[in-house]
Parts: sequence; structure tokens; C-alpha cells
Amino acid sequence: MANICTVAGVLLYTQRSEAISYLYWFTADMAILLGLALVRWGCQYLFKHPVSYLFDLVLLTSCALLMLLVPPSLAYAVYLVIIMSITAATLISLTGIDNVKASKIHMPIFYAVLINVPFFIMGTLFIIRAVALFLYPEDLAKLSAANKLNAPIVMWSYIILLLLTNLVLYGNALTRLVYKVARLVNRDQLTGLWNRHALLDKLDEVDALWQRSGSAYSLLVLDLDHFKQVNDTYGHMAGDTVLKHTANLLQQTLRKVDFICRYGGEEFLIILPATNADEAMIVAEKIQSKINSTSVLWQQKEMTFTLSIGCATCKTHINVDQLLQLADEAMYLAKNTGRNTICTKELNMST
Ligand code: GH3
Ligand code: MG
Ligand code: MG
Repeated sequence: MANICTVAGVLLYTQRSEAISYLYWFTADMAILLGLALVRWGCQYLFKHPVSYLFDLVLLTSCALLMLLVPPSLAYAVYLVIIMSITAATLISLTGIDNVKASKIHMPIFYAVLINVPFFIMGTLFIIRAVALFLYPEDLAKLSAANKLNAPIVMWSYIILLLLTNLVLYGNALTRLVYKVARLVNRDQLTGLWNRHALLDKLDEVDALWQRSGSAYSLLVLDLDHFKQVNDTYGHMAGDTVLKHTANLLQQTLRKVDFICRYGGEEFLIILPATNADEAMIVAEKIQSKINSTSVLWQQKEMTFTLSIGCATCKTHINVDQLLQLADEAMYLAKNTGRNTICTKELNMST
């Protein structure tokens, strides 16, 4: 629709002559502006943001009313083109700002701005056109107004504008899709935590950092105690609620640099970068006490639950897989020690 409006506007635009014509001036400008508003609404719709119909329709109506104050002809070109350019610049720049705000949720702000740069360039060009016309009205009025002589220049400018707009729109849609797919690949659907797929990459990264900087890291394996009973007593939905509750609690308790992953059904794995064995124990105790002091309300019944936690800290000559194995064994040790407890395990030695 936006493309049809803009193309129709540009075709009418190129038919301008010395004569007064509402079709070639007023309708042409309004068709192009409606095209730009449609681009903005389409972007907002794509990003599931509230659509700014009211603001944009007030803007378009004000622009139309101002244009109607003078006869639509070459004699008033300066006035008409300035109003059109300011409205177009506003719509295009606001679309750019909307898109940056929406894209920065999925990607670093630098890239969000970068893919929307064409919008800001187009907005700036319209402003430059308005200012230049204001400063040198005689020289530029004819050129900007596009009579039949310079129609190809104006037409090509608008075709480039249209192509750029389409390119940015497809770019935005595609980027959003790629980030959505990337999120689905690496995140657990139920809890929103990282999944096993994302774990190994992160573990290699933290391990490499340790090898280089000597900053030790620790792993925690957490397993909910007697979780089957929760499902059997209250149902699967209640079990899911407990898992989500645990995930939220872990996210609230841990630092931003800590990596929380849903390792299995009711098992979680946490990577604690820059954390030695003593510090890991403190973190594990903090998690345990938080879990023990909270309950989940399910159909007016309070469900309480506990965790068994296994800790392991990196050491020279232990690779990532062995460390994972140690943390897992430490968790099973905690189960065998009576559950709701924390155990650590080192190679060839258990505590
Ligand atoms: P233990 O204290 O020895 O860990 O006992 P447990 O009952 O927690 O362990 P078990 O391995 O016997 O049972 C795990 C249960 O977790 C069985 C399975 O139905 C449940 N479970 C796994 N994934 C999910 C899930 O996504 N949602 C729900 N509701 N339950 C799950
Ligand atoms: Mg388990
Ligand atoms: Mg369990």
C-alpha cells in the first residue's frame, strides 16, 4: 500500500506545469505523505508496538490544511514544498526512531541504529530541502517543485527513496526473524533460561578466560528433590510452575555474569565466572536458603520444595567435560547424603 501511494504520488508529481492543479500538487503530495505514514504504521505493526494513527493523522491533516491555504501552483511552490518536506522529514525520522527502539531489544544499539541509518539520511535530506528552500526560494523553487522539465530528477530521487525504504523494511523484518530464531535455539521454552545447546559454547568461553587470566570459575548442578512427587500430587502444570518459580528465583539471586541453564527436566546448571570454591559455596548456600524460605501457591495450597546442589571448581589438568562430571557427581553425593544439601567434589577426593 505504501509503495502504491508513493508511486502514484510521484507519477502525479511529474505532471506539474504552470497551471493550478489540485491533482498534481495537493493530491500528489498527500499520496506520498500517506505512503510514508503507512510505512511507519507497518513498522509498528511488525514490531507489535501501538500504532500511532492519531498522531500521524493529526500531522497529515494539519499539513493538508496548511497546503490548502494557497492555490496549488508553481507560484506557491516554496510554501508548498517546505510544508511537504517538514511533514515527510517528521514521518521518516519518527519511523527510524520507532525501529531503533524496537530493534535494540534484540540486538546491540549500534546495529539497531546502523540498519536504520537510511531513514535518518532521508529525514535529514527532506529537512535540508526545506531549509535550502527557505534560504534561497527563487533559485530552488522550480527545481524542487518538479515541472515537466526536471521530472526525471525528482522521479529518480523518489524511486531511490522508495527502494531504500523497502530495503530497510526487509532488513528489519529479517533481523528480527534471525534474532528470534537464535533465541529459540539457545533458550529453554518453559523457563526462558539458557538451554543445553548454549551451555558448551559458554563453558568453553569461561574456561578459555580462566586459562588466560587465571580467574577461576565454578559450576553448580542443582536438582529439585522429589520433584516427581510434586507432579504426582498436584499435576504436571503445578510442576511447571515450580520450575518457572525456581528459574525466576535463580535469576533474581545471581549476578548478571552468571550463566543459568536448564540442564535437564528438573536440573539446572550454573556457571559462576570469577568465583573460587569458597565463593561458590557461599552462592550455593544463598540459593538453598532462598529456595527453602519460599513457597509456590497452587490452587490455594502452598507447595514447598528443596534442592540438592553439587559444586565443582576448575583446576589445572581438568577439562570442561571432567568438571561437568565432577559437579554432577557432587550433586548425586548431595542426594545420597539426604537431599536439601550442598556437596563439592574434587578429582580423586570428595568432601
Ligand atoms: P530426586 O530427589 O531423586 O531428584 O527425585 P525426583 O523425583 O526429583 O527425580 P526423578 O528423576 O525421579 O524425577 C524427575 C521428574 O521430573 C520426573 C519428570 O516427570 C519431571 N519432569 C521433568 N521435566 C519436567 C517438566 O518440564 N515439567 C514437569 N512438570 N515435570 C518435569
Ligand atoms: Mg533429576
Ligand atoms: Mg530431582
